[in-house]
Amino acid sequence: MNPVRWLALSLVPMMALPPQLLLAQSPAVPKNLDGYSQSASSIEQSWETKFRDLPEPARIRENMRVLSAQPHHVGSPYDKQNAEWLLAQFKSFGWQAQIENFYVLFPTPRERLVQLLDSSGKPTFTASLQEPPIPVDPTSSQTAEQLPTYNAYSADGDVTGPLVYVNYGTREDYEELDRMGISVKGAIVIARYGQAWRGIKPKVAAEHGAIGCILYSDPADDGYGVSDSYPKGGGRPAEGVQRGGVNDTEFPGDPLTPGVGATKDAKRLAIKDSPIITKIPVLPISYADATPLLKSIDGRVVPVKWRGALPITYHVGPSTASKVHLKMFSNWDMKTVHDVIARIPGSTLPDEWVIRGNHHDAWVNGASDPISGISAELEEARAMGELLKQGWRPRRTVIYCAWDGEEPGLLGSTEWAETHADELRQHAVMYLNSDGNGRGYFSAGGTHGLEHFIDSVASQVIDPEKNIPVIERTRLRQIARATPAERAALRSRPDLPIRALGAGSDYETFMDFIGLPSLNIGFGGEDHGSQYHSIYDDFYWYTHFEDTTFVYGRALAQVAGTAVMRMADAELLPYNFNNTASTVRTYVDQVQQLLKTEQDKVAETNREIQEGVFSATSDPKEPIAAPKSEPLPPFLNFAPLQNGSHALTDAAHAYESAVAKLESGSGAALDSPGIDAVNHELMQTERAFFLAKGLPDRPYYKHQLYAPGAYTGYGVKTLPAVRESIEQHKWSVASQATVDVGGVLQKEAETITAAEKLLPQPAAQ
Ligand SMILES: [Zn+2]
Repeated sequence: MNPVRWLALSLVPMMALPPQLLLAQSPAVPKNLDGYSQSASSIEQSWETKFRDLPEPARIRENMRVLSAQPHHVGSPYDKQNAEWLLAQFKSFGWQAQIENFYVLFPTPRERLVQLLDSSGKPTFTASLQEPPIPVDPTSSQTAEQLPTYNAYSADGDVTGPLVYVNYGTREDYEELDRMGISVKGAIVIARYGQAWRGIKPKVAAEHGAIGCILYSDPADDGYGVSDSYPKGGGRPAEGVQRGGVNDTEFPGDPLTPGVGATKDAKRLAIKDSPIITKIPVLPISYADATPLLKSIDGRVVPVKWRGALPITYHVGPSTASKVHLKMFSNWDMKTVHDVIARIPGSTLPDEWVIRGNHHDAWVNGASDPISGISAELEEARAMGELLKQGWRPRRTVIYCAWDGEEPGLLGSTEWAETHADELRQHAVMYLNSDGNGRGYFSAGGTHGLEHFIDSVASQVIDPEKNIPVIERTRLRQIARATPAERAALRSRPDLPIRALGAGSDYETFMDFIGLPSLNIGFGGEDHGSQYHSIYDDFYWYTHFEDTTFVYGRALAQVAGTAVMRMADAELLPYNFNNTASTVRTYVDQVQQLLKTEQDKVAETNREIQEGVFSATSDPKEPIAAPKSEPLPPFLNFAPLQNGSHALTDAAHAYESAVAKLESGSGAALDSPGIDAVNHELMQTERAFFLAKGLPDRPYYKHQLYAPGAYTGYGVKTLPAVRESIEQHKWSVASQATVDVGGVLQKEAETITAAEKLLPQPAAQ
């Protein structure tokens, strides 16, 4: 809450001194923690220091060995066994713990086929659709327990058609196909993994008339183009396949119970009515299986940026001498998910909850995704258990969750959050998530009211290899990689910017549907390749190529555990609104720039059409379809957004300076009964960004600052109602959205001001 103090602490020394002079064994400690009076702050810091000494890499390694010993996807025996083992661990650490079950639709493959047919319809190649065991890797041979390679929530279907290569299969790639005059209507498309979330690929393919979709891992993206192939290196081998859900992004969780918990007696949609199952059959394959298919495609050679790393000439197609036969049928079964929920009741404020989660289910053995994360979370829980024995009691209730069913579609976290939605909105003050963890740089994403909070926590954890605070290592990398203009901004900003979050792990429902201040944290960036969602993401691979000594597992436990304790014990909730306001100002500038860019683009294309550019350059062998002319995008009224952003900036400044006064000196006023009312008002601040009607076309997503992109999936869209309607040229929607979102910013400003008015008077010094 005190940017000046933070600046003095971390930014100035970093700029003034070369990093090697910053090698402090223990990092600088702020005088009073934000939201703490002096006495509470010193007690908290001594508990936090004790906590950070406790996590042990060897125990994190042992957690991983146990949890990744066998395949443990949703509905498998080892998935249930892991949940029971986690439950027993939490209990043995002194936590109250239980398993909550939900009942979800989880299809598994019944029939899979990919064949190449010659012109007479005779098969000339059949894809293996297998990941073979690797002799040095003991768990890779657990064939009987492994889930076959497939994409969950693919439609059933048996289709035959010519093959078209569509690069990553994003909307932009189809625009490029349009320019080449190539249609995928009636064809099967083959798209490489990467760039956008995998579920977007069959969705966009179906929108363009394709009848089937094959996904493959090109070695350029996570194979030998990046790293030596496993087991020589960590890169994906020729037969490695990425499994994964392909459900549409309308809502996360169980496809049959949108918006409500998938309890035993919940009202369910019929499977055929669920809007999130794909419209066409989809199957993922390895590049060993993809190579003959890609070789069979003829026609135009692909644009340079569409080339992968296979030793072939990539063609777009459609294939003329051969066809592809694709068959995919699932067992559409209901499965039980086992969420492990553990708690330590708060001593003073048991009705305020700090929630921490990581999933425990995997596609196969999942050593990296997610066991590296849950193994660290469990070690945090053990360390807090040790503190309990020494007399620590959190002020607020701490809830640790081990989610099931994340992989197919955030099932366990979403169904739990939906079941407990009312309680969560009433009681929860933060949701902190992690998932797979690796070696390298600390990164954080989340709601910006927690930016300063997580930065200050991460300034107190030392990078195990570089011996500087983990936040400083990240900051130095961000500055090194930035453009000169961005560098200046990064240096002048007191806090390291955190990413806005789209989708991709269990924070989604908490952030976009419940409305909690949320964070997603982890380490990575120095890994040697990826075995993402393959049988080779296992203990042998992880302990040879990832965080092999588990010191980054310990660092994750230290950051996450410190954040939980600090939020749980604070007198005043340490939310910071200046960072939110400055981030919103950036977003408002961006959407205005975006409209201008769209206007320029349309104007230029219209001019080119008039000048006859396209008819003059068109080559009959490789035709370029002329784009259609389009009316110029209208000007939009951004005043409501700008006014809302101003109001938010003013309210944030007023609140922060009032809090700075309270926190100065002994900060005794923070330890007064009046603080409870402030905290209750603060608990409404994230939800003030909600609109009850949600986003245009996506009512589930209520948050008006962040959402997963309708056409990017994982990738976030900020000010999504405004930004996506401009991108999609939906001008009346955009015009309404600037008014709606402007109103939301005003509502946020009012909520912050209401909290400010409730602050007690500073105690006499
Ligand atoms: Zn995961």
